[in-house]
Amino acid sequence: MKIVPIDGSYGEGGGQVLRTSLALSLVTGQPFEITNIRAGRKKPGLMRQHVTSALAAATIGGARMEGAAIGSDRLVFEPRTIQPGEYRFSVGSAGSCTLVLQTVLPALLIAGGESRLILEGGTHNPWAPPFPFLEKAFLPLVNRMGPQVTVELERPGFFPAGGGRFHVHVVPCRSLAPLELVDRGRTVGQRIVAVVSRLPRRIGETEIQAAADFLGWDPGGAEVVEVREPQGPGNALFLEMGFEQVTEVVTGFGQKGVPARNVGRRAAMEAAAFLASDVPVGPHLADQLMIPLAMAGKGRFRTTALTPHATTNIDVIRRFLDVGIHAAPSGNDAWEVAFSTAS
Ligand code: AMP
Repeated sequence: MKIVPIDGSYGEGGGQVLRTSLALSLVTGQPFEITNIRAGRKKPGLMRQHVTSALAAATIGGARMEGAAIGSDRLVFEPRTIQPGEYRFSVGSAGSCTLVLQTVLPALLIAGGESRLILEGGTHNPWAPPFPFLEKAFLPLVNRMGPQVTVELERPGFFPAGGGRFHVHVVPCRSLAPLELVDRGRTVGQRIVAVVSRLPRRIGETEIQAAADFLGWDPGGAEVVEVREPQGPGNALFLEMGFEQVTEVVTGFGQKGVPARNVGRRAAMEAAAFLASDVPVGPHLADQLMIPLAMAGKGRFRTTALTPHATTNIDVIRRFLDVGIHAAPSGNDAWEVAFSTAS
């Protein structure tokens, strides 16, 4: 089979190009060679988290691989057969283990049997889907396409200590059904959750109050979760917005030197922007939904302006799958992304 050439410095130019290539190489069986990996980043080449994703993909796909080492700017990946089953993948640092799942999940969704995964590392990281986003926003939509994926958080892992762990159970389906997400439907619930790990409860309470004040939400139903047996300090705030068709989860991360009030306000401003729009799909969900919809070969969603992650994903998907992806403006600051196959 011809090796698909991928330029890793293309588009968003980060880990996304690599992860989407690995995911779709597993799905299609097409080998690829990626060069200039993360060329534009401060520390170019593969980081530990990317090596873990590549090793995880190689394990599941029985792949021959060259260049999977920290700092490497080139990787060759030739998958053989997908082996569903029981796996444990550990990033071994605070690197995101939800991004490892993002890499291997697409192939497991249509594999020949069930899989059970244990993923270890960072579960609540900035610049990665935090666990509550996976659980509440992303996976319910994937499950609507046919497979049944359930996740359970054993313990959160925050930067810099990491040490989080979650469990995934994948019941695959033969092929993914199309998904149409054009309207969000009525509001069905809103919830605020603050997680504090080896930090005072008061931080979570302040964040909740600040977010609730800004959004005009009742803070009564909000919850501060204090992590039992914390691996290290960390804090995140989750604003869940449930609609009939979709749930959006906006995350704010606590940071040393940033007052808790500001963390709450900043997350609330992001949530307010989403609420003020009428789209069902937020910016992070948009890039993550592209792979399952492209695999289905049919479906569409409305979202806000496409992020560099989303446009990069579109370009990488076109390298592996013969699917039409059409993005067109659809109302105020909104875009509709439609997927189609020729047949
Ligand atoms: P990268 O920056 O290339 O490592 O990729 C980041 C991935 O994480 C993309 O799929 C983003 O959509 C996703 N992501 C980043 N931040 C969030 C967030 N706050 N909520 C959900 N997904 C996120």
